Amino acid sequence: MDYDILIIGAGPGGIFSAYELAKADRGLKIGVVELGRELSKRKCPIDGKKVKSCIRCPVCSIMSGFGGAGAFSDGKYNITNQFGGTLYEHVGKQHAIELMQYVDEINVSHGGEGTKLYSTANSQIKRVCLENGLHLLDAQVRHLGTDINYVVLENIYNELKDKVDFRFNSAVERVERIEGGYALTVGGERLTAKKCIVSVGRSGSKWMESVCNDMGITTHSNRVDIGVRVELPADIWTPLTDKLYESKIVYRTEKFEDLVRTFCMNPHGVVVNENTNGIVTVNGHSYEDKTKHTENTNFALLVSKHFSEPFKDSNGYGESIARLSNMLGGGVIVQRFGDLVRGRRSTEKRIADCFVTPTLAATPGDLSLVIPKRILDGIIEMIYALDKIAPGTANDDTLLYGVEVKFYNMEVEIDENLETTSPGLYVIGDCSGVTHSLSHASASGIHVARHILENLDA
Ligand SMILES: Cc1cc2nc3c(=O)[nH]c(=O)nc-3n(C[C@H](O)[C@H](O)[C@H](O)COP(=O)(O)OP(=O)(O)OC[C@H]3O[C@@H](n4cnc5c(N)ncnc54)[C@H](O)[C@@H]3O)c2cc1C
Repeated sequence: MDYDILIIGAGPGGIFSAYELAKADRGLKIGVVELGRELSKRKCPIDGKKVKSCIRCPVCSIMSGFGGAGAFSDGKYNITNQFGGTLYEHVGKQHAIELMQYVDEINVSHGGEGTKLYSTANSQIKRVCLENGLHLLDAQVRHLGTDINYVVLENIYNELKDKVDFRFNSAVERVERIEGGYALTVGGERLTAKKCIVSVGRSGSKWMESVCNDMGITTHSNRVDIGVRVELPADIWTPLTDKLYESKIVYRTEKFEDLVRTFCMNPHGVVVNENTNGIVTVNGHSYEDKTKHTENTNFALLVSKHFSEPFKDSNGYGESIARLSNMLGGGVIVQRFGDLVRGRRSTEKRIADCFVTPTLAATPGDLSLVIPKRILDGIIEMIYALDKIAPGTANDDTLLYGVEVKFYNMEVEIDENLETTSPGLYVIGDCSGVTHSLSHASASGIHVARHILENLDA
């Protein structure tokens, strides 16, 4: 065998499993195969001058490379079982929290010291939310910020690079079970290992599905979250963001009894484009560095759609809605809340006259032509509900960007060790369908590494 353990994907799942395996110092030969570039060479060509929007690079530097999809993210590590994944269903609630706390310790000791750990538990805000039909979920959140998140990744890479064999710009094409382990086809090469950890994230979900089909591993179809990104003056939300930084709030709509939730809150942040498989959607960032702060806060409002038989392609459904916005707006569409509720599109002039300055150059348009009525009605209802705890949220000039889509992978059948029915083949992180966040994906990597270490001589 070329390696003891081969890891596919250098996102948080892959990195933290490599970290834990290398730290054990058991003389293991560990390889990481990653289709994107190393961290210092990841560069999105959008510079706002020559390249203003996504040019659909063959390998997206935002989604792929060392650090995975989270490398340029806001670096919010939520320590909770209430959202971010269902790792606890496999490893137990207490253990899942301990794993996430351990990940936090690693981040703090690799450049994250000095960053703040926020907590929503027992806060006065929780009570105010309840009084208004809103439910604030319990969590601790370490906000690294995009800048410190990068520093942490850089430090972890420097520590690992002499202990782990990293192969960048290398897409794994095939995984094959062989006598005593697995063989990966990478370009013209064949790499073999006793054990294999797959952590290819959301961007690798389609490929992962084909691997499962080839190997007879059962998968279950999952869900998709669809919504908008809200941007408004930061002052409106400071009573919440100053105390909690990120608040995950859930609301049940009166009309359809659907659940709408806030997601990925970025105080003083910026709204950004995201490219998933060539489809441009919207997301948000914020920086720990105060010099990079804007006057706006942004967060997503999402509605989860779960499908029942015979429909199985939940991601395809989300992609089609995002494609509609790309078709009408050439990318992301922006609309004033006031225009949306009056049933008219936003125009360049209406956006220019707006009291909120958009942080993303999106095309003014009409989100009601893109987002299904049921989902849009739920979002409008929640904006009015949020207005009660953060007055000003439902102002006419509040900006809505669409479409924000959270794609989920099909859920792969794995056991409590995150091992598939094919012995020695582990599926972790977001491509397992079990995690949807930095902390859960990272924790799944640690869990698998420890399981492998404990069973080395077995
Ligand atoms: C803009 C943005 C902001 C985000 N912000 C946050 C946040 O603040 N907090 C939070 O909790 N979560 C956030 N997330 C989500 C978070 O980044 C993911 O949940 C997390 O990165 C999942 O980790 P992972 O290791 O499972 O997968 P990924 O991070 O997606 O990594 C998978 C890696 O596998 C590689 N790969 C794919 N296919 C192959 C193949 N065939 N061969 C070799 N390599 C392959 C990819 O190139 C990629 O680098 C954000 C995501 C985005 C896009």
